[in-house]
Amino acid sequence: MTPDIVIIGSGIGGASVAAGLASTGARIVILEAGGHIPDQPENRDQRAIFQRGHFRPKEQWHEVGGGPFNPGNYYNVGGNSKFYGAVLYRYRREDFLEMQHLEGVSPAWPFSYEEFEPWYGKAEALYQVRGSLGDDPTEPVHSAPYPYPPVPDEPSISAVKARLKARGLHPSPLPLGIDIDRWMAKAPTPWDAHPNSDDGKMDAESTALAAALSYSNVTLVTHARVNLLETGTDGKAIAAVVYERDGAEVRLTPQLVVLAAGAVQSAALLLRSASGRHSGGLGNSSDQVGRNFMNHNSSAVLAFSPSYRNSSVYQKTFGINDYYLSDGAGGPPLGNIQLLGRVSGTILKANLPQVPEWLLGRISAHAIDFYTITEDLPHPESRVMVEGERIVLKWTRTNWKSHELLVKRLKADLRAAGFPLVLSRSFDKRTPSHQCGTVRIGTDPASAPLDPFSRSFDHPNLFVTDASCLPTSAAVNPALTIAAQALRVADHITRTELAA
Ligand SMILES: Cc1cc2nc3c(=O)[nH]c(=O)nc-3n(C[C@H](O)[C@H](O)[C@H](O)COP(=O)(O)OP(=O)(O)OC[C@H]3O[C@@H](n4cnc5c(N)ncnc54)[C@H](O)[C@@H]3O)c2cc1C
Repeated sequence: MTPDIVIIGSGIGGASVAAGLASTGARIVILEAGGHIPDQPENRDQRAIFQRGHFRPKEQWHEVGGGPFNPGNYYNVGGNSKFYGAVLYRYRREDFLEMQHLEGVSPAWPFSYEEFEPWYGKAEALYQVRGSLGDDPTEPVHSAPYPYPPVPDEPSISAVKARLKARGLHPSPLPLGIDIDRWMAKAPTPWDAHPNSDDGKMDAESTALAAALSYSNVTLVTHARVNLLETGTDGKAIAAVVYERDGAEVRLTPQLVVLAAGAVQSAALLLRSASGRHSGGLGNSSDQVGRNFMNHNSSAVLAFSPSYRNSSVYQKTFGINDYYLSDGAGGPPLGNIQLLGRVSGTILKANLPQVPEWLLGRISAHAIDFYTITEDLPHPESRVMVEGERIVLKWTRTNWKSHELLVKRLKADLRAAGFPLVLSRSFDKRTPSHQCGTVRIGTDPASAPLDPFSRSFDHPNLFVTDASCLPTSAAVNPALTIAAQALRVADHITRTELAA
């Protein structure tokens, strides 16, 4: 059977576009490189996850002219969302406009927040987001309330929230895709970085993919790694998708191809599919495929006080956007602050192997942990490249000073809120969790590979709906924006390609 549509990847971008297309009746095949994450003890075992790297693929990417490194990028049904913190923020209205930062400009999107807003609402419904409106001064207008009330703060978290409010900050509930009762019923652990096996985390597999697969015209093929896209004789349409399964090569010749292998792998696949006619890779007449790689500037911040006792299990329930649009004193934007999933002694041990775990456990009992995010700006020399089978990543960080200022602000706030010791540690290229931008949307084919509906300017039957298509990274977690754009693209495909 020749499918009408092949979707490559079952992460947020692939599963969400599948959910949007399923009811059209089109024959859809989803090709996914990985398999299902089974229900197994390691899913909630912090030594397995953080100390032994049980789930971490053995893959290596390379630095330019440098050595290999092992990135935390996951290949399984549901993609990285199986491990995610399920924070499902909307980009702020201002993120769709040009924004001046301390060290550069974040360009405008090819459409406004208002135009995109209905798709955020649909994505929140699909991912069953828990949240509330009214506390966050940067929250853009919602045409409908969140589908579920927010996840409750645990008592030792409410206490810190109150201290920060007393400082004049506006901590507000994180929008979360988690059914906390179901998650805790399985085992009392945080969900951030812990894989979900249908335990109540609203990831790409448990929500969007499940919805898509409830239609008989949608099929998922696991352990199917796509190695090549080929164009037809005109060099325009993508004529074949070539994948490998159980050592055999399989070719599919669908009408439409939706690429959603993740921001690094999608760019790599297009670049590897170079041919005589497309020597710089497919979809790349702009020479932008693989460029503008972004990955948030982010740090973990741990605040310690001997008199504070953190009895929380999951912790991750509030965020702070007081420094999002400005530094709080009329200066440039700094970014978002949100709680991390509770950091235990077992998790700390993975980063501090020389310190006894019992001691780290004592420290963590008196600490609270935050995650700070600052926008990384698009830069043409921040690139994903391929050398044969190798992926070469040249991450040219931007806007780092703003991030240092954000961390400094938070540290000052936490000290003033009664935490005398506040430590921070930044994340580097080994944590490419918020990768995006490598096959971006835009209105000008000279500077973007995709049009505003994620369609390739060069290949009209090719769409890209994973994090690659985001033209800016903003300073909030990307998944809801990826899902909203994928749903919008599915609607566009339905209207322009599948209408009878
Ligand atoms: C620990 C962690 C915590 C995070 N927390 C949050 C959070 O709280 N909120 C948030 O918004 N974001 C979070 N993120 C980021 C979020 O998970 C990603 O932005 C999002 O899942 C990316 O979706 P995607 O569709 O772009 O790509 P992916 O999730 O990478 O999906 C791509 C899929 O394609 C498959 N694939 C790759 N190559 C091929 C190929 N050649 N052939 C076939 N299939 C292929 C992969 O196996 C994968 O399933 C987190 C990420 C991590 C790792």
